[in-house]
Amino acid sequence: MLKKYSFGLSIQNEKMKFEDLNLNPSILKALKDENYTEPTSIQAKAIPLVLAGSDVLGSAQTGTGKTAAFAIPIIQHLLVDQRNLNGKRKTLSLIVTPTRELAIQIGESISTYAKYTNIKNAVIYGGVKQGAQTDELKQGVDVLVATPGRLLDLMNQGYISLQEIKYFVLDEADRMLDMGFIHDIKKILTKLPKKKQSLFFSATMPDNIISLSNDILINPKKVTVNPVSSTAETVKQFLYTTNKSSKTDLLLHILKNPKLEQVLLFSRTKHGANKIARNLERKKIKCAAIHGDRSQNQRQKALTDFKEGKIRVLVATDIAARGIDIDKLRYVVNYDIPNEPETYVHRIGRCGRAGEEGVSISICEPEENAYVRDIEKLINQKIQLVRDNPYPQTDRPMNQAEKKAFEREKQKRKQEHFANRKKNKSNQKKGFRKK
Ligand code: AMP
Repeated sequence: MLKKYSFGLSIQNEKMKFEDLNLNPSILKALKDENYTEPTSIQAKAIPLVLAGSDVLGSAQTGTGKTAAFAIPIIQHLLVDQRNLNGKRKTLSLIVTPTRELAIQIGESISTYAKYTNIKNAVIYGGVKQGAQTDELKQGVDVLVATPGRLLDLMNQGYISLQEIKYFVLDEADRMLDMGFIHDIKKILTKLPKKKQSLFFSATMPDNIISLSNDILINPKKVTVNPVSSTAETVKQFLYTTNKSSKTDLLLHILKNPKLEQVLLFSRTKHGANKIARNLERKKIKCAAIHGDRSQNQRQKALTDFKEGKIRVLVATDIAARGIDIDKLRYVVNYDIPNEPETYVHRIGRCGRAGEEGVSISICEPEENAYVRDIEKLINQKIQLVRDNPYPQTDRPMNQAEKKAFEREKQKRKQEHFANRKKNKSNQKKGFRKK
């Protein structure tokens, strides 16, 4: 029987307990500390399969308990393997994930579930100096959690060998391909031993993902939970329609509501994220931006400050925010409407986790009206329009001719901007040389 809990983690079988899964008592003790009483749907389905040694093709996104679904049985396998290693440490497990934030979170989860064992994990990601990571590797680790670029880099430098890997996880495969990691992944695959257990997770399963999974998995067992459109059910969704020019004013109006104590705000672009953060700072609203152009340390600090309540608004791009798990986050604001409806579902899935009711507020300019219609089709419900809006939409979307002219003008301005930047840089260089 499928029981659906208010926090969106569906439990597969009411009677199933972690105790029924024949897990090592040290893992059970750690799960108890975390107050995990029952496995989530993906855990109930995947853990027995992974324990039995099957390859698994998992269709699941973050927020479903996916990390524990692969981490717990891998820890269990490693505890058994350790008995035969006579105290030696070998890297037997590799988990590859697209973003630094996800890698760090997975590493933290493994440390939590393995805290009463001597299983050691290391997290390898780019954007920071490699020294601390290579020092850790030299001491030996059982589980390696890595983003593709830094992993290949350290493999090329001879710090990492994948020859002994027995358990391989490819996490968030769809995002991995979106981020252009396909060649890196293929290179990594060639370095892995043929005989291994592979687990492959993706939120969506388009053809290119299925084809990649065929390269990796042998007779996989399929596990599916929460199709992407259904997570929207647990979040209350509101929509403000406005003009492009009044978005900032509308956002400030929305943030006047003291109920919005902490907000994760999405921006489609890095440039947009910086601009929104600057505008909020001007109005003395404590905020920080996270995106790919910010250093790892800046991103981690922003996230920590947000989790500790030191900042009210965290402005993020989709890639930077993917997989971020912020306990008790209630409000997500979409400063723009994503053109891919699945992205909207991922965004609003950031709030309303772990028992808290989530609220999403979307701000839509005329050019985005069509995107709202696509989203409503996907989630099979209407997003509630907020009528009490001091900045209502009065402009109409551009027609084809206007759109073309707008794109031409935008392109022209972009070229001018880059030409000026180049000119300024070369002038600066010349000035530097004269000195
Ligand atoms: P994930 O999908 O792996 O990002 O997990 C989402 C959240 O669910 C995390 O905060 C986990 O700590 C939590 N979680 C995972 N498994 C369980 C469980 N069985 N019971 C309660 N919470 C869980």
